[in-house]
Amino acid sequence: MFAEKLRLDGRVAVVTGGGRGIGLSCAEALCEHGASVVIADLDAGIAEQGRDELRAKGHAVDIRQVDVTRSAEVDALAEAVLARHGRVDVLVANAGIARSGTAAEDVTDEHWTAVNDVNYNGVFWCDRAFARPMLKARRGAIVNIGSMSGLICNRPQKQTYYNASKAAVHQLTRSLAAEWADRGVRVNAVAPTYVETPLTRFATEEGGLLDAWLRDTPMGRLGQPDEVASVVHFLASDAASLMTGSVVVVDGGFTCW
Ligand code: NDP
Repeated sequence: MFAEKLRLDGRVAVVTGGGRGIGLSCAEALCEHGASVVIADLDAGIAEQGRDELRAKGHAVDIRQVDVTRSAEVDALAEAVLARHGRVDVLVANAGIARSGTAAEDVTDEHWTAVNDVNYNGVFWCDRAFARPMLKARRGAIVNIGSMSGLICNRPQKQTYYNASKAAVHQLTRSLAAEWADRGVRVNAVAPTYVETPLTRFATEEGGLLDAWLRDTPMGRLGQPDEVASVVHFLASDAASLMTGSVVVVDGGFTCW
């Protein structure tokens, strides 16, 4: 019974920013448990690479190009997925960008807007577009990718705009969960620590920042994309049927201090 609840056979899942990094790993975890997955990414080439990698492992994967900052494109994506697959059961709103190293007083309007457009507005456009068919079907699971940076201030990294955008995702998650709970749609978030992906390559290559991260992490290491993806899969599955509005921290103990 317990293993059965983790299965996603016959379900359709969409992962934004799913061509690489954490998103690609989420796509793989959902596929492995039986879902048909649509990878939606900004760069069609990256989406193709992700699709080819998963298809080579025998998984059912489709791709779509989308810019999550454009709500009309996101609405069109939801319509295209419905037209092609006839249903949508899971959304992983993962697309995000990170910028750091600028003191708050020096952050430009463009900088602030760019980060919030993807990390916060983009998540809402996606949640809204995919919740519509889910609410109609009275069934669906949304997992937003937040960050432990939405819970702590991360002062040495000077990334107020990123921290604030992720805190907003957490509160968005709780608010949507409360609105949609009685109509069968669950909304949860995952808040990861530093994970080894292209997004954090700048720190692992430069060394200094990585040393600080490792020192501040009780487990003493970075996360791997699959360690986030396994939690996302759990939240997307019926095994998490009583969970909605949760922000699940996956951080090797970083925020325990
Ligand atoms: P990556 O940069 O490796 O992957 C992000 C993907 O999102 C890329 O394929 C990127 O495409 C895509 N993307 C960016 N902007 C858009 C857009 N406007 N529309 C559609 N797709 C877009 O990042 P990670 O895998 O590391 O991060 C995934 C999520 O996890 C993000 O939300 C991030 O904030 C969060 N996170 C990551 C952590 C980490 O340490 N890695 C820690 C905590 C949270 P392109 O390359 O073309 O820009």
